[in-house]
Amino acid sequence: MEERYCQSCGMPMGETDEMFGTNKDGSKNEDYCKYCFENGAFTQDCTMDEIIEVCVPHMASENSGMSEDEARKMMKEFFPTLKRWKQI
Ligand SMILES: [Zn+2]
Repeated sequence: MEERYCQSCGMPMGETDEMFGTNKDGSKNEDYCKYCFENGAFTQDCTMDEIIEVCVPHMASENSGMSEDEARKMMKEFFPTLKRWKQI
């Protein structure tokens, strides 16, 4: 099975539906995590750069040896491939 990531914040969703966000009708939304998407709407109305800045310290602390600059650079390459931020 292909690993799934939240299409907004890039967080791995794991193998269960626990992390999935919810649609307006209460069903699960498999594209976005519960922190980003609730009851059919994004919980935070922010730009890709803002989300990256929020994630940088977490990512750097979770990956020992990774500096914040490296984490930021990686996310700036990864995020534009996600559904929410994809340029058409
Ligand atoms: Zn998310």
